[in-house]
Amino acid sequence: MPKLWFFSENNDYQLEDDEKGNLSFMIIQKMTISASATYSSIRTGILSLTPGDQKCRLYCSGPRCRFCVVVTGQSEIQAIDGLYSTWITSDILAMARLQVEHFEKLDIIEKFKINHIVSVINLQESGEHSFCGNGNLSSGFSYDPEKLMHGGMYHFNFPLPDFQACTPTRLLDIVKVVDFALTLGKIAVHCHAGHGRTGMVIAGWMMFAMGMSPSQAVDTVRSRRAKAVQSKEQVETLHKFRLLIRNNGGMIIPKQKMMLISEYVSYNQKFLCKPESRLYGKVPKIVYTAMRITLQKMYSSVSFEIEDDYRLTIRCGNPLPENKSLDEQLLDAQLNDEGHEKTQFWYSDQVKNGLTISTIHRQLQNEDFRDILRLLDLFFHSTFHQLTHKEEIYAVLHNWDQAEKDWSPTFWFLLKCIRQMPRPLHLALSRLVAKWFLRSEVDLAPRIQQILSPPVSSNE
Ligand SMILES: [Zn+2]
Repeated sequence: MPKLWFFSENNDYQLEDDEKGNLSFMIIQKMTISASATYSSIRTGILSLTPGDQKCRLYCSGPRCRFCVVVTGQSEIQAIDGLYSTWITSDILAMARLQVEHFEKLDIIEKFKINHIVSVINLQESGEHSFCGNGNLSSGFSYDPEKLMHGGMYHFNFPLPDFQACTPTRLLDIVKVVDFALTLGKIAVHCHAGHGRTGMVIAGWMMFAMGMSPSQAVDTVRSRRAKAVQSKEQVETLHKFRLLIRNNGGMIIPKQKMMLISEYVSYNQKFLCKPESRLYGKVPKIVYTAMRITLQKMYSSVSFEIEDDYRLTIRCGNPLPENKSLDEQLLDAQLNDEGHEKTQFWYSDQVKNGLTISTIHRQLQNEDFRDILRLLDLFFHSTFHQLTHKEEIYAVLHNWDQAEKDWSPTFWFLLKCIRQMPRPLHLALSRLVAKWFLRSEVDLAPRIQQILSPPVSSNE
């Protein structure tokens, strides 16, 4: 197959054929790279072979490098006065590297604070572009990152070579930190000029967190900063990143069925941030998130507290009026619809719109809770073989066996969430849970329902 040469040079992701031996559509998509580079590969090749000092003299104009000279009052190219910078989203600023002058004459930290920027993501290698502007300090950069930290800001350095590709796993590590940094406040990303590497990382984050395709992400970044994502290698990195998401653990439903919940948890682990891996250590993120969103659609407030031993406490506020009147039978029919075809169609549509493990929350928030529960149904159906068997689940339910099983944290998690939901939903959901863990166990559903809502005693 002549197309394979393209992938064989990199071991970071696997090729996967479908059952008929065809390359999957993700791989075909990789072959038609739609976003274009602003630098030709010849230019990139020459640049990467040119020694640093000559590169600066030839291409950056050395001391007169326009990205390294601090000039104020150019508002059309300076989102922050005195800094060659553009807001790519309302939270992400792309900028040229900082200079000593920015700190000493322009009080850049104060300017960052006014703009609610709390983190700087630095993509430069130490020592690069040392002949540009005023050169580099002993830090190896044109500024002292400690100044940012003393000013109460965060500084993350991910050295990437100028104009070069980076492996998709490396890009994933970087965008996960970008995603984490965004939970702390706004961020500023820079390389040398804030075009190539900066554009690639921001586009990568858009793919990871917003579910964009490589070309959508590149177009979006370029619509704000025209020169962003420069080299062919950088564009290719984004396409490989797409493959990594699609084929190596970024999709909610994996390509192959699994035996164990723990297998699934490790399948999507590399797409989770550190705090998330703790949270979803035993319960798949999709299960956790789907239940949480469903509860949020039913109550004015929802809080999940997880202790160190994964003990979970759920607290819900007042029921929202729109979810008070639920028709029991209608719900049961809607949720326990035997055919998965409709949901499968809905899921493919969501995937086309960017649904992945890292966009679940963003993407499902506006969906009807019945659709979210049906997605869970499809997930269990398509992801796992039968998770447990009758004797085992009854032993756990009757407390004969208190040892933790691979499936039991997820099972109890689901029951805890469902218990919070309106009673008319309990039977329909008990039937779903029984199906998820035992495939077709009819006796289990009433037993689960009993645990969820114990019958009212006759003395009352
Ligand atoms: Zn230079």
